[in-house]
Amino acid sequence: MRAVLVTGGASGIGWAAARRFAAAGDVVVIADIDGAAATARATSLGPQHAAFAADVADPSTAAAVIAFVLARCGRIDVLVNNAGIIDSGGTQITEQPLDALRRLIGVNLIGMERLARAAHDVMTTQAPLSAGAPRGVIVNMASGAALRAIPLRNGYSASKAGVLAMTRVQGVEWAADGIRVNALAPGYTRTDLVDELIRRGRVDPTLTESRIPLGRMGRPEEMAEAVFFLASPAARGMLGSLLIADGAGAAYGASDAAPVQRGAAPRPAPEGTPVVVVSGGDTAMGAACLRGLSAAGAIVVAATTPTDIASAAAQHGRLDGLVNAAGTDHLDDACADLPTQIAHHLEAQFLAAQVAGRIMLAQGYGAVLNLTGAGALAAGPAPVAGSAAAGAVAMFARSMACEWGGSGVRVNALAVGASIDPGGAAAFLLSPAAGYVSGAIIAMDGGRSILASTEPAAWH
Ligand code: NAD
Repeated sequence: MRAVLVTGGASGIGWAAARRFAAAGDVVVIADIDGAAATARATSLGPQHAAFAADVADPSTAAAVIAFVLARCGRIDVLVNNAGIIDSGGTQITEQPLDALRRLIGVNLIGMERLARAAHDVMTTQAPLSAGAPRGVIVNMASGAALRAIPLRNGYSASKAGVLAMTRVQGVEWAADGIRVNALAPGYTRTDLVDELIRRGRVDPTLTESRIPLGRMGRPEEMAEAVFFLASPAARGMLGSLLIADGAGAAYGASDAAPVQRGAAPRPAPEGTPVVVVSGGDTAMGAACLRGLSAAGAIVVAATTPTDIASAAAQHGRLDGLVNAAGTDHLDDACADLPTQIAHHLEAQFLAAQVAGRIMLAQGYGAVLNLTGAGALAAGPAPVAGSAAAGAVAMFARSMACEWGGSGVRVNALAVGASIDPGGAAAFLLSPAAGYVSGAIIAMDGGRSILASTEPAAWH
Protein backbone atom coordinates (compact mmCIF):
# COMPACT_ATOMS: atom_id res chain seq x y z
CA MET A 1 0.00 0.00 0.00
CA ARG A 2 1.55 3.25 -1.17
CA ALA A 3 0.73 6.81 -0.13
CA VAL A 4 -0.03 8.72 -3.32
CA LEU A 5 -0.47 12.47 -3.70
CA VAL A 6 -2.30 13.60 -6.84
CA THR A 7 -2.37 17.34 -7.46
CA GLY A 8 -5.25 18.55 -9.61
CA GLY A 9 -6.94 15.28 -8.70
CA ALA A 10 -10.49 16.64 -8.60
CA SER A 11 -10.98 16.52 -12.36
CA GLY A 12 -9.83 15.02 -15.66
CA ILE A 13 -6.56 13.13 -15.79
CA GLY A 14 -5.78 13.67 -12.11
CA TRP A 15 -9.13 12.27 -11.02
CA ALA A 16 -8.70 9.24 -13.31
CA ALA A 17 -5.23 8.72 -11.81
CA ALA A 18 -6.63 8.97 -8.27
CA ARG A 19 -9.20 6.28 -9.11
CA ARG A 20 -6.51 4.06 -10.67
CA PHE A 21 -4.24 4.15 -7.62
CA ALA A 22 -7.17 3.71 -5.22
CA ALA A 23 -8.36 0.69 -7.23
CA ALA A 24 -4.91 -0.83 -6.78
CA GLY A 25 -5.22 -0.49 -3.00
CA ASP A 26 -3.10 2.65 -2.59
CA VAL A 27 -4.07 5.49 -0.27
CA VAL A 28 -4.70 8.68 -2.22
CA VAL A 29 -4.61 12.32 -1.20
CA ILE A 30 -6.20 14.65 -3.74
CA ALA A 31 -4.87 18.21 -3.63
CA ASP A 32 -6.82 20.68 -5.71
CA ILE A 33 -7.65 24.36 -5.89
CA ASP A 34 -11.30 23.30 -5.99
CA GLY A 35 -11.51 22.08 -2.39
CA ALA A 36 -15.19 21.12 -2.51
CA ALA A 37 -14.73 18.95 -5.61
CA ALA A 38 -11.58 17.39 -4.14
CA THR A 39 -13.43 16.48 -0.94
CA ALA A 40 -16.34 14.98 -2.87
CA ARG A 41 -13.94 12.94 -5.01
CA ALA A 42 -11.91 11.68 -2.04
CA THR A 43 -15.08 10.78 -0.14
CA SER A 44 -16.35 8.80 -3.11
CA LEU A 45 -13.11 6.78 -3.14
CA GLY A 46 -13.53 5.70 0.50
CA PRO A 47 -12.69 6.80 4.05
CA GLN A 48 -8.98 6.06 3.84
CA HIS A 49 -8.54 8.68 1.09
CA ALA A 50 -8.36 12.42 1.74
CA ALA A 51 -8.55 15.84 0.13
CA PHE A 52 -6.55 19.02 0.60
CA ALA A 53 -7.62 22.39 -0.80
CA ALA A 54 -4.69 24.33 -2.19
CA ASP A 55 -3.43 26.44 -5.05
CA VAL A 56 -0.15 24.88 -6.19
CA ALA A 57 1.06 28.30 -7.31
CA ASP A 58 0.99 29.53 -3.71
CA PRO A 59 4.56 29.33 -2.33
CA SER A 60 3.30 27.89 0.99
CA THR A 61 1.33 25.04 -0.61
CA ALA A 62 4.09 22.50 -1.20
CA ALA A 63 5.17 22.31 2.44
CA ALA A 64 1.57 22.35 3.70
CA VAL A 65 0.31 19.58 1.43
CA ILE A 66 3.31 17.34 2.05
CA ALA A 67 2.87 17.85 5.82
CA PHE A 68 -0.79 16.86 5.40
CA VAL A 69 0.14 13.66 3.55
CA LEU A 70 2.73 12.80 6.20
CA ALA A 71 0.21 13.40 9.00
CA ARG A 72 -2.30 11.08 7.27
CA CYS A 73 -0.02 8.38 5.89
CA GLY A 74 3.36 8.72 7.61
CA ARG A 75 5.14 8.71 4.22
CA ILE A 76 4.77 9.70 0.60
CA ASP A 77 5.54 7.11 -2.05
CA VAL A 78 4.19 8.66 -5.23
CA LEU A 79 3.69 12.25 -6.31
CA VAL A 80 1.53 12.70 -9.39
CA ASN A 81 2.48 16.29 -10.19
CA ASN A 82 -0.53 16.93 -12.38
CA ALA A 83 -2.31 20.20 -11.55
CA GLY A 84 -2.24 22.45 -14.56
CA ILE A 85 -4.09 25.15 -16.44
CA ILE A 86 -4.21 26.12 -20.11
CA ASP A 87 -3.82 29.36 -21.89
CA SER A 88 -7.40 29.74 -23.02
CA GLY A 89 -7.37 33.46 -23.75
CA GLY A 90 -6.50 33.20 -27.45
CA THR A 91 -4.16 36.15 -27.10
CA GLN A 92 -1.12 36.60 -29.27
CA ILE A 93 2.25 37.21 -27.67
CA THR A 94 2.29 40.91 -28.49
CA GLU A 95 -0.96 41.38 -26.55
CA GLN A 96 -0.39 38.91 -23.71
CA PRO A 97 -0.39 40.56 -20.25
CA LEU A 98 2.62 39.53 -18.20
CA ASP A 99 0.29 38.52 -15.37
CA ALA A 100 -1.37 35.86 -17.56
CA LEU A 101 2.02 34.39 -18.43
CA ARG A 102 3.03 34.52 -14.75
CA ARG A 103 -0.08 32.63 -13.67
CA LEU A 104 0.50 29.88 -16.25
CA ILE A 105 4.15 29.44 -15.36
CA GLY A 106 3.32 29.78 -11.65
CA VAL A 107 0.87 26.86 -11.71
CA ASN A 108 2.31 24.63 -14.43
CA LEU A 109 6.03 24.97 -13.79
CA ILE A 110 6.97 26.75 -10.57
CA GLY A 111 4.21 25.01 -8.59
CA MET A 112 5.29 21.64 -9.96
CA GLU A 113 8.93 22.28 -9.16
CA ARG A 114 8.16 23.27 -5.56
CA LEU A 115 6.02 20.20 -5.01
CA ALA A 116 8.61 17.89 -6.51
CA ARG A 117 11.32 19.36 -4.28
CA ALA A 118 9.17 19.12 -1.15
CA ALA A 119 8.27 15.51 -1.97
CA HIS A 120 11.91 14.69 -2.72
CA ASP A 121 13.04 16.07 0.64
CA VAL A 122 10.65 13.73 2.47
CA MET A 123 11.18 10.72 0.22
CA THR A 124 14.94 10.82 0.76
CA THR A 125 14.39 10.36 4.51
CA GLN A 126 12.18 7.26 4.26
CA ALA A 127 13.09 3.64 3.68
CA PRO A 128 11.83 1.97 0.49
CA LEU A 129 8.57 0.05 0.93
CA SER A 130 10.32 -3.15 -0.15
CA ALA A 131 13.84 -4.27 -1.00
CA GLY A 132 14.94 -2.92 -4.38
CA ALA A 133 12.05 -0.43 -4.58
CA PRO A 134 12.75 3.29 -4.92
CA ARG A 135 12.27 5.55 -1.91
CA GLY A 136 9.73 7.45 -3.94
CA VAL A 137 8.44 8.07 -7.43
CA ILE A 138 7.45 11.34 -9.09
CA VAL A 139 5.46 11.65 -12.32
CA ASN A 140 5.46 15.16 -13.75
CA MET A 141 2.66 16.01 -16.15
CA ALA A 142 4.08 17.51 -19.31
CA SER A 143 2.19 17.77 -22.61
CA GLY A 144 2.60 17.27 -26.33
CA ALA A 145 2.62 21.08 -26.35
CA ALA A 146 6.11 20.87 -24.82
CA LEU A 147 7.35 19.44 -28.11
CA ARG A 148 5.46 21.54 -30.63
CA ALA A 149 4.40 25.17 -30.51
CA ILE A 150 0.73 26.09 -30.69
CA PRO A 151 0.06 29.70 -31.71
CA LEU A 152 -1.97 31.64 -29.11
CA ARG A 153 -1.04 29.06 -26.47
CA ASN A 154 2.57 30.13 -26.19
CA GLY A 155 2.86 30.35 -22.41
CA TYR A 156 1.41 26.87 -22.03
CA SER A 157 4.00 25.31 -24.34
CA ALA A 158 6.75 27.18 -22.52
CA SER A 159 5.54 25.95 -19.14
CA LYS A 160 5.40 22.33 -20.30
CA ALA A 161 8.80 22.49 -22.03
CA GLY A 162 10.11 23.71 -18.69
CA VAL A 163 8.52 20.66 -17.03
CA LEU A 164 10.30 18.38 -19.48
CA ALA A 165 13.69 19.94 -18.91
CA MET A 166 13.12 19.89 -15.15
CA THR A 167 12.20 16.21 -15.28
CA ARG A 168 15.41 15.33 -17.09
CA VAL A 169 17.54 16.98 -14.39
CA GLN A 170 15.50 15.62 -11.47
CA GLY A 171 15.55 12.17 -13.10
CA VAL A 172 19.32 11.91 -13.23
CA GLU A 173 20.14 13.93 -10.09
CA TRP A 174 17.64 12.32 -7.75
CA ALA A 175 18.30 8.76 -8.92
CA ALA A 176 21.22 8.76 -6.49
CA ASP A 177 18.73 9.49 -3.68
CA GLY A 178 16.61 6.50 -4.70
CA ILE A 179 13.88 8.62 -6.29
CA ARG A 180 12.59 7.91 -9.76
CA VAL A 181 11.27 10.89 -11.76
CA ASN A 182 9.72 10.69 -15.21
CA ALA A 183 7.21 12.68 -17.24
CA LEU A 184 4.09 11.90 -19.20
CA ALA A 185 3.16 13.94 -22.25
CA PRO A 186 -0.51 13.39 -22.98
CA GLY A 187 -1.84 14.28 -26.39
CA TYR A 188 -5.35 15.74 -26.65
CA THR A 189 -7.41 14.09 -23.92
CA ARG A 190 -11.14 14.73 -23.49
CA THR A 191 -11.24 16.48 -20.13
CA ASP A 192 -12.75 19.79 -18.91
CA LEU A 193 -9.54 21.48 -20.03
CA VAL A 194 -9.98 20.40 -23.67
CA ASP A 195 -13.77 20.84 -23.58
CA GLU A 196 -13.14 24.44 -22.58
CA LEU A 197 -10.88 24.94 -25.61
CA ILE A 198 -13.55 23.39 -27.86
CA ARG A 199 -16.23 25.63 -26.33
CA ARG A 200 -14.15 28.70 -27.02
CA GLY A 201 -13.60 27.61 -30.62
CA ARG A 202 -9.88 27.20 -29.95
CA VAL A 203 -9.86 23.48 -30.81
CA ASP A 204 -11.79 21.91 -33.69
CA PRO A 205 -12.20 18.27 -32.60
CA THR A 206 -12.67 16.96 -36.17
CA LEU A 207 -9.57 18.71 -37.45
CA THR A 208 -7.60 17.69 -34.37
CA GLU A 209 -8.53 14.03 -34.73
CA SER A 210 -7.61 14.12 -38.43
CA ARG A 211 -4.01 14.73 -37.35
CA ILE A 212 -3.85 11.75 -35.02
CA PRO A 213 -3.02 8.37 -36.61
CA LEU A 214 -5.23 6.56 -34.07
CA GLY A 215 -8.02 8.88 -35.25
CA ARG A 216 -9.32 9.92 -31.84
CA MET A 217 -8.46 11.90 -28.75
CA GLY A 218 -7.28 10.11 -25.63
CA ARG A 219 -9.33 9.26 -22.57
CA PRO A 220 -8.41 10.36 -19.03
CA GLU A 221 -8.37 6.68 -18.00
CA GLU A 222 -5.69 5.96 -20.62
CA MET A 223 -3.50 8.73 -19.17
CA ALA A 224 -4.14 7.32 -15.70
CA GLU A 225 -2.86 3.93 -16.84
CA ALA A 226 0.29 5.57 -18.22
CA VAL A 227 0.86 7.41 -14.94
CA PHE A 228 0.27 4.20 -12.99
CA PHE A 229 2.81 2.39 -15.19
CA LEU A 230 5.42 5.13 -14.67
CA ALA A 231 4.93 4.79 -10.91
CA SER A 232 5.23 0.99 -11.04
CA PRO A 233 8.29 -1.30 -10.81
CA ALA A 234 7.76 -2.11 -14.50
CA ALA A 235 9.15 1.33 -15.34
CA ARG A 236 12.38 0.68 -13.41
CA GLY A 237 15.18 1.80 -15.69
CA MET A 238 13.29 4.89 -16.84
CA LEU A 239 14.94 7.97 -15.35
CA GLY A 240 14.16 11.50 -16.47
CA SER A 241 12.37 9.91 -19.38
CA LEU A 242 9.35 11.08 -21.34
CA LEU A 243 6.43 8.83 -22.17
CA ILE A 244 4.32 10.32 -24.95
CA ALA A 245 0.72 9.08 -25.01
CA ASP A 246 -0.79 10.81 -28.01
CA GLY A 247 -2.10 8.24 -30.48
CA ALA A 248 1.08 8.76 -32.58
CA GLY A 249 0.22 12.43 -33.16
CA ALA A 250 3.76 13.66 -32.52
CA ALA A 251 5.24 10.96 -34.75
CA TYR A 252 3.14 11.91 -37.77
CA GLY A 253 5.08 13.79 -40.42
CA ALA A 254 2.85 13.81 -43.51
CA SER A 255 0.55 16.66 -44.51
CA ASP A 256 -2.61 14.72 -45.38
CA ALA A 257 -5.16 13.32 -42.91
CA ALA A 258 -3.47 10.91 -40.50
CA PRO A 259 -5.97 8.15 -39.72
CA VAL A 260 -6.15 5.93 -42.80
CA GLN A 261 -7.81 2.56 -42.42
CA ARG A 262 -5.43 0.14 -44.12
CA GLY A 263 -7.22 -2.94 -42.83
CA ALA A 264 -10.29 -3.58 -40.71
CA ALA A 265 -12.02 -0.88 -38.69
CA PRO A 266 -10.45 -0.53 -35.23
CA ARG A 267 -12.07 -2.62 -32.52
CA PRO A 268 -11.20 -3.68 -28.98
CA ALA A 269 -9.43 -7.00 -28.55
CA PRO A 270 -11.93 -9.78 -27.83
CA GLU A 271 -12.38 -11.24 -24.35
CA GLY A 272 -10.00 -14.02 -23.41
CA THR A 273 -6.30 -14.47 -22.82
CA PRO A 274 -4.13 -12.31 -25.10
CA VAL A 275 -1.63 -14.02 -27.39
CA VAL A 276 1.79 -12.44 -27.74
CA VAL A 277 4.69 -13.56 -29.90
CA VAL A 278 8.29 -12.75 -29.07
CA SER A 279 10.57 -12.72 -32.07
CA GLY A 280 14.21 -12.90 -31.01
CA GLY A 281 13.31 -14.63 -27.75
CA ASP A 282 16.85 -16.02 -27.61
CA THR A 283 18.28 -12.53 -26.98
CA ALA A 284 18.60 -11.22 -23.40
CA MET A 285 15.91 -8.58 -24.00
CA GLY A 286 13.64 -11.09 -25.75
CA ALA A 287 14.02 -13.58 -22.89
CA ALA A 288 13.16 -10.86 -20.36
CA CYS A 289 10.00 -10.10 -22.35
CA LEU A 290 9.06 -13.78 -22.48
CA ARG A 291 9.22 -13.78 -18.67
CA GLY A 292 7.48 -10.40 -18.24
CA LEU A 293 4.61 -11.25 -20.56
CA SER A 294 4.10 -14.69 -19.03
CA ALA A 295 3.99 -13.10 -15.58
CA ALA A 296 1.34 -10.70 -16.90
CA GLY A 297 -0.80 -13.70 -17.85
CA ALA A 298 -0.53 -13.69 -21.65
CA ILE A 299 -0.11 -16.77 -23.83
CA VAL A 300 3.46 -16.20 -24.97
CA VAL A 301 5.02 -17.87 -27.98
CA ALA A 302 8.70 -17.62 -28.95
CA ALA A 303 9.07 -17.25 -32.72
CA THR A 304 12.26 -18.13 -34.54
CA THR A 305 11.00 -17.28 -38.03
CA PRO A 306 8.25 -14.96 -39.33
CA THR A 307 6.27 -18.10 -40.27
CA ASP A 308 6.12 -18.99 -36.56
CA ILE A 309 4.21 -15.75 -35.95
CA ALA A 310 1.53 -16.67 -38.50
CA SER A 311 1.33 -20.21 -37.07
CA ALA A 312 0.85 -18.93 -33.50
CA ALA A 313 -1.90 -16.54 -34.63
CA ALA A 314 -3.62 -19.31 -36.62
CA GLN A 315 -3.39 -21.76 -33.71
CA HIS A 316 -4.85 -19.36 -31.14
CA GLY A 317 -7.18 -17.46 -33.47
CA ARG A 318 -5.74 -14.06 -32.52
CA LEU A 319 -2.54 -12.06 -32.25
CA ASP A 320 -2.54 -9.34 -29.60
CA GLY A 321 1.10 -8.45 -29.60
CA LEU A 322 4.51 -8.84 -31.17
CA VAL A 323 7.74 -8.16 -29.30
CA ASN A 324 10.42 -7.57 -31.88
CA ALA A 325 13.71 -8.35 -30.13
CA ALA A 326 15.77 -9.64 -33.04
CA GLY A 327 19.29 -8.32 -33.27
CA THR A 328 19.35 -6.69 -29.84
CA ASP A 329 22.16 -8.89 -28.47
CA HIS A 330 24.84 -7.70 -30.87
CA LEU A 331 24.31 -3.94 -31.05
CA ASP A 332 27.46 -3.27 -29.03
CA ASP A 333 29.57 -5.63 -31.11
CA ALA A 334 32.37 -3.38 -32.36
CA CYS A 335 33.33 -5.96 -35.01
CA ALA A 336 29.94 -5.96 -36.72
CA ASP A 337 29.72 -3.50 -39.61
CA LEU A 338 26.61 -1.52 -40.49
CA PRO A 339 25.27 -3.89 -43.19
CA THR A 340 25.50 -6.73 -40.66
CA GLN A 341 23.71 -4.74 -37.93
CA ILE A 342 21.00 -3.69 -40.38
CA ALA A 343 20.47 -7.27 -41.55
CA HIS A 344 20.29 -8.72 -38.03
CA HIS A 345 18.31 -5.88 -36.43
CA LEU A 346 16.29 -3.73 -38.85
CA GLU A 347 15.64 -6.35 -41.55
CA ALA A 348 14.80 -9.12 -39.09
CA GLN A 349 12.39 -6.83 -37.21
CA PHE A 350 10.92 -5.60 -40.51
CA LEU A 351 10.15 -9.16 -41.66
CA ALA A 352 8.53 -10.11 -38.34
CA ALA A 353 6.49 -6.88 -38.25
CA GLN A 354 5.26 -7.44 -41.81
CA VAL A 355 3.73 -10.78 -40.88
CA ALA A 356 2.28 -9.53 -37.59
CA GLY A 357 1.09 -6.29 -39.20
CA ARG A 358 -0.93 -8.13 -41.87
CA ILE A 359 -2.66 -10.19 -39.18
CA MET A 360 -3.30 -7.23 -36.86
CA LEU A 361 -4.59 -4.99 -39.66
CA ALA A 362 -7.07 -7.68 -40.63
CA GLN A 363 -8.15 -7.98 -36.95
CA GLY A 364 -8.48 -4.23 -36.29
CA TYR A 365 -6.42 -4.47 -33.08
CA GLY A 366 -2.95 -5.43 -31.88
CA ALA A 367 0.32 -3.86 -30.79
CA VAL A 368 3.95 -4.18 -31.81
CA LEU A 369 6.96 -3.29 -29.69
CA ASN A 370 10.34 -2.85 -31.33
CA LEU A 371 13.09 -3.41 -28.81
CA THR A 372 16.38 -1.76 -29.48
CA GLY A 373 19.47 -0.43 -27.71
CA ALA A 374 20.10 2.84 -25.93
CA GLY A 375 22.36 3.77 -28.85
CA ALA A 376 19.16 4.76 -30.68
CA LEU A 377 19.04 7.90 -28.52
CA ALA A 378 22.47 8.39 -27.00
CA ALA A 379 26.08 8.44 -28.10
CA GLY A 380 28.24 5.96 -26.26
CA PRO A 381 26.35 2.77 -25.43
CA ALA A 382 26.99 1.21 -28.84
CA PRO A 383 29.48 1.74 -31.67
CA VAL A 384 28.46 3.59 -34.83
CA ALA A 385 26.97 0.58 -36.62
CA GLY A 386 24.90 -0.59 -33.63
CA SER A 387 23.67 2.94 -32.91
CA ALA A 388 22.71 3.57 -36.53
CA ALA A 389 20.78 0.31 -36.72
CA ALA A 390 19.10 1.06 -33.36
CA GLY A 391 18.07 4.53 -34.52
CA ALA A 392 16.59 3.03 -37.68
CA VAL A 393 14.64 0.40 -35.74
CA ALA A 394 13.22 3.00 -33.31
CA MET A 395 12.03 5.24 -36.13
CA PHE A 396 10.68 2.29 -38.04
CA ALA A 397 8.28 1.73 -35.13
CA ARG A 398 6.98 5.28 -35.60
CA SER A 399 6.43 4.70 -39.32
CA MET A 400 4.41 1.57 -38.59
CA ALA A 401 2.41 3.44 -35.94
CA CYS A 402 1.51 6.12 -38.47
CA GLU A 403 0.58 3.63 -41.21
CA TRP A 404 -1.41 1.24 -39.06
CA GLY A 405 -3.09 3.54 -36.52
CA GLY A 406 -6.24 3.91 -38.66
CA SER A 407 -6.91 0.22 -38.11
CA GLY A 408 -6.28 0.42 -34.39
CA VAL A 409 -2.79 -1.15 -34.45
CA ARG A 410 -0.31 0.53 -32.08
CA VAL A 411 3.48 0.41 -32.46
CA ASN A 412 6.18 1.70 -30.11
CA ALA A 413 9.93 1.38 -29.60
CA LEU A 414 11.78 0.83 -26.35
CA ALA A 415 15.43 1.91 -26.29
CA VAL A 416 16.81 -0.25 -23.51
CA GLY A 417 20.09 0.28 -21.67
CA ALA A 418 22.52 -2.38 -20.53
CA SER A 419 21.25 -4.73 -17.78
CA ILE A 420 17.77 -3.21 -17.70
CA ASP A 421 14.86 -5.66 -17.80
CA PRO A 422 12.22 -4.48 -20.29
CA GLY A 423 9.75 -7.31 -19.50
CA GLY A 424 7.28 -5.31 -17.39
CA ALA A 425 7.34 -2.35 -19.76
CA ALA A 426 6.71 -4.68 -22.71
CA ALA A 427 3.72 -6.18 -20.90
CA PHE A 428 2.29 -2.68 -20.34
CA LEU A 429 2.99 -1.38 -23.86
CA LEU A 430 1.34 -4.38 -25.52
CA SER A 431 -1.71 -4.29 -23.24
CA PRO A 432 -4.96 -2.37 -23.80
CA ALA A 433 -3.96 -0.22 -20.80
CA ALA A 434 -1.47 1.50 -23.14
CA GLY A 435 -4.32 2.13 -25.62
CA TYR A 436 -3.26 5.68 -26.47
CA VAL A 437 0.53 5.09 -26.47
CA SER A 438 1.64 4.74 -30.07
CA GLY A 439 4.50 6.09 -32.15
CA ALA A 440 6.55 6.57 -28.98
CA ILE A 441 10.28 5.99 -28.71
CA ILE A 442 10.77 5.41 -25.01
CA ALA A 443 14.14 5.69 -23.31
CA MET A 444 14.58 2.97 -20.70
CA ASP A 445 18.26 3.51 -20.23
CA GLY A 446 18.83 4.71 -16.67
CA GLY A 447 19.03 8.30 -17.87
CA ARG A 448 21.85 7.52 -20.30
CA SER A 449 20.30 9.37 -23.24
CA ILE A 450 19.68 12.59 -21.34
CA LEU A 451 22.78 12.83 -19.20
CA ALA A 452 24.98 15.45 -20.75
CA SER A 453 28.64 15.11 -19.90
CA THR A 454 29.97 17.86 -17.69
CA GLU A 455 32.87 18.12 -20.14
CA PRO A 456 32.04 19.55 -23.56
CA ALA A 457 33.06 17.31 -26.46
CA ALA A 458 36.23 18.41 -28.26
CA TRP A 459 35.28 20.44 -31.31
CA HIS A 460 37.01 22.10 -34.20
P1 NAD B 1 -8.64 19.54 -15.93
O1 NAD B 1 -8.89 21.01 -16.09
O2 NAD B 1 -9.71 18.58 -16.25
O3 NAD B 1 -8.16 19.24 -14.43
C1 NAD B 1 -7.18 20.03 -13.82
C2 NAD B 1 -7.37 19.98 -12.31
O4 NAD B 1 -6.34 20.79 -11.74
C3 NAD B 1 -8.71 20.58 -11.87
O5 NAD B 1 -9.30 19.77 -10.88
C4 NAD B 1 -8.34 21.93 -11.32
O6 NAD B 1 -9.22 22.39 -10.30
C5 NAD B 1 -6.94 21.66 -10.79
N1 NAD B 1 -6.15 22.88 -10.71
C6 NAD B 1 -6.06 23.88 -11.63
N2 NAD B 1 -5.27 24.84 -11.18
C7 NAD B 1 -4.83 24.46 -9.96
C8 NAD B 1 -3.99 25.06 -9.01
N3 NAD B 1 -3.45 26.27 -9.19
N4 NAD B 1 -3.75 24.38 -7.87
C9 NAD B 1 -4.32 23.18 -7.63
N5 NAD B 1 -5.14 22.58 -8.49
C10 NAD B 1 -5.39 23.21 -9.65
O7 NAD B 1 -7.32 19.27 -16.77
P2 NAD B 1 -6.68 17.92 -17.33
O8 NAD B 1 -6.94 17.89 -18.78
O9 NAD B 1 -7.04 16.78 -16.50
O10 NAD B 1 -5.16 18.26 -17.16
C11 NAD B 1 -4.34 17.70 -16.14
C12 NAD B 1 -2.90 17.90 -16.53
O11 NAD B 1 -2.65 17.27 -17.78
C13 NAD B 1 -2.49 19.35 -16.70
O12 NAD B 1 -1.18 19.53 -16.20
C14 NAD B 1 -2.51 19.56 -18.19
O13 NAD B 1 -1.65 20.57 -18.61
C15 NAD B 1 -2.04 18.17 -18.67
N6 NAD B 1 -2.41 17.87 -20.05
C16 NAD B 1 -3.71 17.73 -20.41
C17 NAD B 1 -4.01 17.45 -21.74
C18 NAD B 1 -5.40 17.28 -22.24
O14 NAD B 1 -5.59 17.16 -23.46
N7 NAD B 1 -6.40 17.23 -21.39
C19 NAD B 1 -2.98 17.30 -22.67
C20 NAD B 1 -1.68 17.45 -22.25
C21 NAD B 1 -1.40 17.73 -20.94
